Amino acid sequence: MTIELLIFDCDGVLIDSEPVASGTLAQALQRAGVPLSQSEVHRRFTGLSGQEARGLCRAELGLADPEPVFAEAKGALFAEFSRSLRPMAGMEELVRNVRQRKCVASNSDMDRLRRSLGLLDLWADFAPHIYSAEMVERPKPAPDLFLLCAGRLGVAPHRCLVIDDSALGIAGAVAAGMAAIGFVDPADPRSGRHEALMAAGALRTVTGAGELAIALEALPGLPPPASRPAVAAG
Ligand SMILES: [Mg+2]
Repeated sequence: MTIELLIFDCDGVLIDSEPVASGTLAQALQRAGVPLSQSEVHRRFTGLSGQEARGLCRAELGLADPEPVFAEAKGALFAEFSRSLRPMAGMEELVRNVRQRKCVASNSDMDRLRRSLGLLDLWADFAPHIYSAEMVERPKPAPDLFLLCAGRLGVAPHRCLVIDDSALGIAGAVAAGMAAIGFVDPADPRSGRHEALMAAGALRTVTGAGELAIALEALPGLPPPASRPAVAAG
């Protein structure tokens, strides 16, 4: 099966944003009287859409109105992104070397994407093919966003491959009829990531950009590497 389109998740795959996001949300929750640690916030909130995160606050954390918490966390998050956000290690080089077409599919809203991915050179590597769950009716794990990507780039779903670090993203890819690779950040503090991603339907998992590059090179049926610069004769 020839894969023609690579669909990258943003947070936790392209950009090393999840620890920053968990830290700022934990601080805002603590100020609202919810004593969750950064690692607990990381475990429970990572990969959720904004709507789902608000639902979790109402249903499980006893916050009738979580909006002020998210507003505070968002303000702090963007300030921290502008100070310290980095690409996931090795991902810039990988993205520039892939032979397939590529796009971004994120459960984040466009404002957050512009104020995170948009700070980095990676934005220009993908623009205009940067798609947010805001653009569809249902976020991941629904297939909507992935099908939007396939449609916009004119590639059949079965020729798309999703790279995502959340079980919700992998499940959405499977629901869209796409293959998926589960990405594990080497620095992720959560245990059981490989098992969770495989259980959600990933073909395989990789740890870090180095393993991902090897997995992508091994995909069958690809054209030869696109015109790499010729080595000058010496
Ligand atoms: Mg993610």
